[in-house]
Amino acid sequence: MTNRIVSEIEYNIPSTLEEAILIASQNTQRCKFIAGGTDIMPNKFQGNDITNHLIDISKIKELKGIRKDNNYLYIGALTRLDDLKKSIDIREEFPVLIEAANSVGSPIIRKTATLGGNILCENRCIYYNQSEWWREAVGFCLKCNGNICIATGGKKACFSEFISDTAPALISMNAKVKLIEPDGERIIALEELYTGDGVNPKTIKNSTLLKEILLPLDQNFKCAFKKLRLRESLEFTALTSVVSINNKNTIRIVLAGVDPKPVLVEGKLNEDIEELIKKAIKGSRAVENDMFSRTYRRDMIRVFINNCLNKINI
Ligand SMILES: Cc1cc2nc3c(=O)[nH]c(=O)nc-3n(C[C@H](O)[C@H](O)[C@H](O)COP(=O)(O)OP(=O)(O)OC[C@H]3O[C@@H](n4cnc5c(N)ncnc54)[C@H](O)[C@@H]3O)c2cc1C
Ligand code: SF4
Repeated sequence: MTNRIVSEIEYNIPSTLEEAILIASQNTQRCKFIAGGTDIMPNKFQGNDITNHLIDISKIKELKGIRKDNNYLYIGALTRLDDLKKSIDIREEFPVLIEAANSVGSPIIRKTATLGGNILCENRCIYYNQSEWWREAVGFCLKCNGNICIATGGKKACFSEFISDTAPALISMNAKVKLIEPDGERIIALEELYTGDGVNPKTIKNSTLLKEILLPLDQNFKCAFKKLRLRESLEFTALTSVVSINNKNTIRIVLAGVDPKPVLVEGKLNEDIEELIKKAIKGSRAVENDMFSRTYRRDMIRVFINNCLNKINI
């Protein structure tokens, strides 16, 4: 293991899962894992992330690679977004994951960013993803220890947007995640990772390691993906929508970019689809904190879901 201090940040590079968990469990409050670094480093440079201990997991072999058994495809958390398309299993069984990954950032970001980092990336808001002096000038908001939400004027809730593009695709296909903690491993549905609270959007501790993502191999998903953004190049989402149907005629609608967590609505093919769309719109707590207006994004939810339904012939 290499150990050094960079500026005032302690930086460890463990080579095994056990080492990483041990270091993290000793510094739960102030450490974070770093994988590709494309999310956490900009947040550090802007003063949004103030943890002072980084644990670089990029050398841990157990977090790499893609394998399968009779039930699941297992994708290591360190799999780079750009490498997903190299897997025949993903190309054949879960192509929407490649489409979602290809919509993230730019080619260089996709060659650096990992799938684990993407589903755990920090929520965003136009009033939060700014330099420290900018945030200080307007008065810090709830997400950076201020006492008001600049977007809503409220004092209780933060509605920073959940912006991962791959998470909605994975959730639409019933993905699970394997988590490692000092007291052992557990597997949960991917959607259970998210709280819906914009200040603390994850249900796991900083010291919980995401090992791999599990996709079920027996459901023959048909899926469609659509992302709203200002330009068709490097751009965060203003609304990502994914619709899936499996071989039991279960429909899943998953949205990102319009709430602090992914919005999930599930129903059956024989149900009233319009009711499912209404539920998705009602469940989306979009506020005025994006380049597109709240009204426009909410109106586009119906358009995008219908577009996805058409693509998969529903
Ligand atoms: C210019 C730019 C454009 C971007 N565009 C998009 C976009 O369009 N769509 C999008 O979804 N994202 C976008 N991103 C955000 C980011 O690049 C991606 O989300 C990326 O996939 C993050 O992966 P990473 O490996 O770099 O994560 P990191 O930055 O290394 O980590 C992100 C977070 O996840 C945690 N983490 C990472 N791996 C693990 C693990 N295995 N276990 C536990 N915790 C872990 C870290 O502690 C950190 O909190 C963009 C970023 C930039 C800079
Ligand atoms: S939604 Fe409000 S509290 Fe949350 S980051 Fe934006 S301005 Fe801050």
